[in-house]
Formats: sequence, C-alpha cells, structure tokens
Amino acid sequence: MEETATEQTPAIDLLILGGGIVGAGIARDAALRGLSVVLIERWAIGWGTSSRTSRLIHGGIRYLEQGNIGLVRESLRERATLLRIAPGLVRATPFLFVMDRGAWWQWFKVGIGVMLYRLLAGRDRLGPHYPLVRSAVVAREPLLADAPLIGGALYQDARGDDLGLVRANAAAAREAGADVLEQTEASIQMLPDTEGVVATLPDGRSITARAMVIAAGPWTDEVRAAVGLPAKRLVGGTKGIHIAFDIATVPLGHAIALRHPDDRRVMFCVPEPERGRVYVGTTDTDTDEAPEALTVSEDDIVYLLRAAQHLFPALGLTRSSVTETWVGVRPLLRQDGSESARSREHLMLREGAVLTVAGGKFTTYRSMAEEAVDTVGEMLGRELPPCRTAEVVLGQERS
Ligand SMILES: Cc1cc2nc3c(=O)[nH]c(=O)nc-3n(C[C@H](O)[C@H](O)[C@H](O)COP(=O)(O)OP(=O)(O)OC[C@H]3O[C@@H](n4cnc5c(N)ncnc54)[C@H](O)[C@@H]3O)c2cc1C
Repeated sequence: MEETATEQTPAIDLLILGGGIVGAGIARDAALRGLSVVLIERWAIGWGTSSRTSRLIHGGIRYLEQGNIGLVRESLRERATLLRIAPGLVRATPFLFVMDRGAWWQWFKVGIGVMLYRLLAGRDRLGPHYPLVRSAVVAREPLLADAPLIGGALYQDARGDDLGLVRANAAAAREAGADVLEQTEASIQMLPDTEGVVATLPDGRSITARAMVIAAGPWTDEVRAAVGLPAKRLVGGTKGIHIAFDIATVPLGHAIALRHPDDRRVMFCVPEPERGRVYVGTTDTDTDEAPEALTVSEDDIVYLLRAAQHLFPALGLTRSSVTETWVGVRPLLRQDGSESARSREHLMLREGAVLTVAGGKFTTYRSMAEEAVDTVGEMLGRELPPCRTAEVVLGQERS
C-alpha cells in the first residue's frame, strides 16, 4: 500500500544520517543484527569523502613514523578482514618504498620500518618485506631506471574500490532489511527525555526512531548543528588531491610509496590496470572550503606532477599528460599539530538518543561500525546478537 503524507509508521530502532562508508557499514551491521534501520543520504551513496580516497586498504606505513602503533595494528587486522569479506573489491598489492639519492640513512630507516610493519601484521602479513638496493628496485620496476634513487624496500598492502565498497555495504544493508534512501534530506526533531527522534522527509512522511547515528564525515559539525545538538568543532578537514595518467603513458607495474622531492611528504603512485590509469596522491592541506564545493588548484596539480616527473624523468610528463583529478576532504578529529599529524582515530559521542561517529579511516570502517552498533544496543537497552560483519562475505547476507 502506498504511504500517504500523514501516515504514521511504527517506530524503527535506528536512523542513520550519512551514506558514506561509515554510515553504510553501520547500516549493514545493524540490519544483520536484527535492528530495523533507515539510512538517509543527502546526495548519493558514497558521494562524499568515501569515493575520493587514495583507494588504499592499508595499515598506514607512514603512521609508523608518528608512533601510532595501535592504529597501524587495527588497520592491518581490518585489511585482512576486508580481503576476506570483499575479495572482488580489495586486492593485495606489493609496494616499493623508494628513497632518494643522498638520503642513505632513510634507506636504513625504511628497511626497519617495513620489517616492523610485517611484524605488526602478525598472522595477517601478506608476503615479503625487506630492503632493496637500487639495482634490485630497478630490476623489479624498470620504469624507475632514471629516478634519482639510492634504493628502497619491498612491503605488502592492499588497494580497493572505495565507491564499490560503499555501494556493496549499502546493498548488503538493504539485503539484510534496511531501508536506504538517497537524494533525501530529513528535518530532525528530538523527542523529549531522550525518547528518540522524528525525521520528516521532503514528501511529508515521518520516521520515528529510537536511536540516531550521525555518520556525516566532514559534514558532521554542520549536521549536528542542524539537528540542534550542542555546537562542537569535532571535525577539521584537510584537503587531498589526486591526479591520474593513462597507464599507456606511465606503464608502471608496481605501486610506489615515495617522499615528495620538495617537502619529503610520503605519497603514493599506484597503477590501476583494471581502470587503465596510474594515479598520484595525495596532498594534505588545511581548507575552509565547503566539503561539497572543493576545488583543485593548478598549484596542487603541479605539485603532484613534480612527484611523478621526479620518479619518471624520461617519460617527459607535462600538465597535459594529466587525464583526471579528484579531491576530497578528510574528516579528521580536531587536535593541535600539523595537518598530517591530525588524528586518524575515531570518536563515538553519545548524547541521549544520538550517537555521533566522527573521524577514522576508510580501512577501519568495519570495526568502527561494530563499535557504533554495540553502542546503539546499549542506547536501546537491548542485548544484540554478536557482530557478523567480519565473517559474512559482502553480498552473501542471506546465505
Ligand atoms: C584525499 C583522501 C584520501 C584518503 N585515502 C584513504 C585511504 O587510502 N585509505 C583509508 O583508509 N582512508 C583514506 N581516507 C580517509 C577516508 O576516505 C575517510 O575516513 C572515509 O571515507 C570517511 O567516511 P565517512 O562515511 O565518515 O564520510 P563520507 O564518505 O564523507 O560520508 C558522509 C556522507 O554524509 C552525507 N551527508 C552530509 N550531510 C548529510 C545530511 N544532512 N543528511 C544525510 N546525509 C548527509 C554526505 O553526502 C556523505 O555521503 C582518505 C581521505 C581523503 C580525503
């Protein structure tokens, strides 16, 4: 039967605002645990940050430098889980960490780093990790023959189809019974005594939910303000740009981690043969731009192009070799320090019937979702069945 504008529907357990990887992951987990769920996405599933990433499902070798061992460990565990539950969307990939000529001590440091990375992965390690002399780097990746390198190191990580994973989680949530609404912006009213929330949809329908999760990535503070929660500056964005080349122009076989020749920041150059491209990224700069109106400046493009020219001087890459650019803003937790040092860890803020989930990385979305749904269970005063998202293969929710 068609619903009318005035029709009252029974209260659901959980309303989720935001259909990025975090919101979609929470919807899947909650629906698999038997909660009645509606997810509302203002634009399209995965339209936000989650389709503008470096596409790495990784422990984060550069977070080792920051001493963030806990985050690296958790991410490596989640990397193994995603390889298992999303084999068509996440693939193990060998990386070469390359070092510039003249910085021999870095060779030693990176060699130790990749071995520590392997150690931290424990049973989840993917393959060999060891330092390589220059000739061994070039033997593995002949396209680096003209790069000013002293050597490098081999390590293993994974890369994934970011948008594909968000869509797969949303489809899996639907499969498990959740209602996923796109192109929808709800107006939210809080019920007294933390009884829940009422969402009014543009068509006049209203949804009463006993609990609500805000999973709005870089829009978190804006969404919190719109629903009337106390003003807090939880999330601060730094902007990340990628550029891509046709793989015929840059016929690279290996994923490369490198330090940018200008400022020594770690970045990646990753071939995606299945998409016919090689991309380079990312930048990491503060921005005040609205997350839905980010711009890519020529300076950003030229900065990334310089990294590619440094690696492949013989290819004669120019601005016109760049075929594609994309930009996203990181929903990082606000804290003091440089852009790159801002926390990749997440926050769960419980206020009455509302849980705000902020920060985190794409790689750790599943464990964030698990923690969020555990918390929602407590908010509802219900003992929920255990989380199954680490075992159930994406798309096999019914089997
Ligand atoms: C350049 C860059 C590279 C990155 N690379 C990596 C990487 O390689 N590996 C990794 O692990 N992590 C990476 N990250 C981090 C990762 O992308 C994010 O942590 C993750 O995608 C955040 O997901 P999210 O669901 O929290 O946010 P989002 O994907 O931004 O989702 C939030 C959603 O909320 C929606 N929304 C906004 N307002 C409303 C509203 N009022 N009502 C309903 N919906 C609303 C938006 O449309 C959006 O779809 C990268 C980030 C950036 C920016």
